[in-house]
Amino acid sequence: MTDCGCDKTKAELEEYLHGELCREDAADIREHIANCADCAGERKVGEVLTEAVQRACRETAPEDLRSTVLARLRALQAQH
Ligand SMILES: [Zn+2]
Repeated sequence: MTDCGCDKTKAELEEYLHGELCREDAADIREHIANCADCAGERKVGEVLTEAVQRACRETAPEDLRSTVLARLRALQAQH
């Protein structure tokens, strides 16, 4: 794959989802995701993970978190 920004996007995706990027970098990522189905899929997966982790932090450690997350990831991947 050529340098189309995917490497940068995937490297910074976690920070992006956590709102830890500066505005300029976040805009780059958002723009790339809008034009890249591959990275859009990665973001979706990342969002599910981020959500699940945040929920886990609010609730008392659910033992089935891992299997819940994995099931949701498989469901997402099956949509592609
Ligand atoms: Zn990409």
